[in-house]
Amino acid sequence: MLDENCVFCKIIRGEIPSAKVYEDDVMYVFKDIEPKAKVHLLAVPKDHYKLLSEADGQRLKTLAYMLEKIPAVAKANGCDNGYRLIVNQGDDAGQTVFHLHIHILGGEALPL
Ligand code: AMP
Ligand code: ZN
Repeated sequence: MLDENCVFCKIIRGEIPSAKVYEDDVMYVFKDIEPKAKVHLLAVPKDHYKLLSEADGQRLKTLAYMLEKIPAVAKANGCDNGYRLIVNQGDDAGQTVFHLHIHILGGEALPL
């Protein structure tokens, strides 16, 4: 399900432009507009929900599918020497977009 007012749903629908690097039936991957590393991608499920803690049932299956796909997408986009995955959960983590997303950071040695 998509949310009318969600920026990532708008990106998935093509209503807001994005630098897409991968898309299939269940996930969409694009470049972060304010990259925090040489390569900074965002992998989002097409199903809109806010928080990692809301993932259960089919959502967890989709997340597992995304984790299977991400290595090839990362490698194809300059992360052949490793990368970091981050999910920010809620306000204290600094989550700003409340549509579950996985940050993929790499393309260089990342500070710890
Ligand atoms: P988070 O802080 O985990 O919610 O991350 C949200 C991320 O979305 C941030 O790194 C933003 O730079 C990124 N972002 C917000 N709007 C856009 C957009 N229109 N296109 C690409 N990335 C975006
Ligand atoms: Zn959304």
